[in-house]
Amino acid sequence: MKETAVSILENIRKGSLEMEDYVFKKLELIRKKDNIINAYISIDSEDFILDRISEIKRNIASGKKMKIPGLVVSIKDNISTNFLPTTAGSKILENYIPPYNATVVEKILEEGGIIIGKTNLDEFAMGSTTEFSAYGLTRNPWDITRVPGGSSGGSAASLAYGSCDLSLGSDTGGSVRLPASYTATVGLKPTYGTVSRYGLIPYANSLEQISPMARSVKDLALIWDVIKGYDEKDATSVNNNYKSNSKFKICIPKEFIEDSEPPIRSTIYKLLEKIENEGVAIEYEGKFENLKYALPAYYTIAFAEAASNLARYDGKLYPISSEGLSYKEMSENTRRYYFGFEVKKRILMGVLALSEGFINDYYIAATKGRRIIRDEILNMTKNCIVASSVSPILPPKIGERIKDPLKLYAMDIYTVVANLAGVPALAMPAGFYNNLPIGIQFMAGPFEEEKLISLGSLVEEITGLYNLIAGD
Ligand code: GLN
Repeated sequence: MKETAVSILENIRKGSLEMEDYVFKKLELIRKKDNIINAYISIDSEDFILDRISEIKRNIASGKKMKIPGLVVSIKDNISTNFLPTTAGSKILENYIPPYNATVVEKILEEGGIIIGKTNLDEFAMGSTTEFSAYGLTRNPWDITRVPGGSSGGSAASLAYGSCDLSLGSDTGGSVRLPASYTATVGLKPTYGTVSRYGLIPYANSLEQISPMARSVKDLALIWDVIKGYDEKDATSVNNNYKSNSKFKICIPKEFIEDSEPPIRSTIYKLLEKIENEGVAIEYEGKFENLKYALPAYYTIAFAEAASNLARYDGKLYPISSEGLSYKEMSENTRRYYFGFEVKKRILMGVLALSEGFINDYYIAATKGRRIIRDEILNMTKNCIVASSVSPILPPKIGERIKDPLKLYAMDIYTVVANLAGVPALAMPAGFYNNLPIGIQFMAGPFEEEKLISLGSLVEEITGLYNLIAGD
């Protein structure tokens, strides 16, 4: 039987697996592989981990029920931890240690998870390849000449080479799903409001959710169960009202697949055939009329929100301080030297989209596009789970896409829809082509995460593509 997080957990509970041995093996693997892959920005010390294990053991001994005792978790470096720096992949937050933990981090600690380190990302989660990090790019463990996807590329790579059991990323426009698809892992962007954003360094608040990742859907269910739920510290948090697991059919509007590379199209259609053979109805004729609005609406809204969020980095509050300078000099210096090129570009474009004379043509128009897309997908997910490609292309070579921003942004065409609409979406392995992973996406209606998880569990049983570790 394959070693999944679920089976590791069973062995830990039975006492047949020693937590120390298990975690130290992971640390050894990180030491061996991470100088090439660069999935992590920071790693816990052995002493810290030993203390943590003693604490978990004390809790077990005192009869405390925990959901993931001893499982090893990596966390994207835009999620606040008060025991490890939280850089958001930016020089502007180098060595910044937040004074508090994100709610999701508190929950993971409470349930016995061992947080092994913080993972690499595009600066402020702005990107699709993890090449825009101030801490070096992350490589795809399946082919180190290629990108792992982004912006949660560090989380995906950390899972793909086996250095942890579970991971947290964030997904503003596809940032856990694209990396999941490029690394043969699994990522779930939950319904907006279901996971607390308290402690997430914001990029575009109205679009993003902290999102779980794992090497199988069944493993992912473990961490989803830990992190979901209302949090009074997040004003957009909602009281959950998850729909029970009713029967479903799948539809695949051609707009969601036809422009994908041929091996992606054929892999997905072949998989759908197999799913159909298991008795799930599939509808191939549907249309999704408004996909053309998705990228312009998403990028305009994301840039506008980013411009407003990143205004706080003026050199006053966060680590870089330039004493003795006027406010103007201080903020100019900080921004000029400590933001990367892509971030500066997005701030400028966001300011433009919001400025008088342009706001109607850009920001307001984008919110209308968002509404149209939201209405269409809500309508469609009433009757079915929408299947699609995750990415129109196979994992690109390092350097290939970042030269042309439009080509880079086009990679997100199928994923941004769920963020614009606030609905949940799951990305998981569908197959391989020339040893490169190909993913499939399933989108459902609001609060239908359980439906996605049961469909995903069925799909991974059909494909056998779960708990894959690159290089095994
Ligand atoms: N690639 C998208 C962007 O750059 C999505 C990033 C994300 O989900 N954080 O905005």
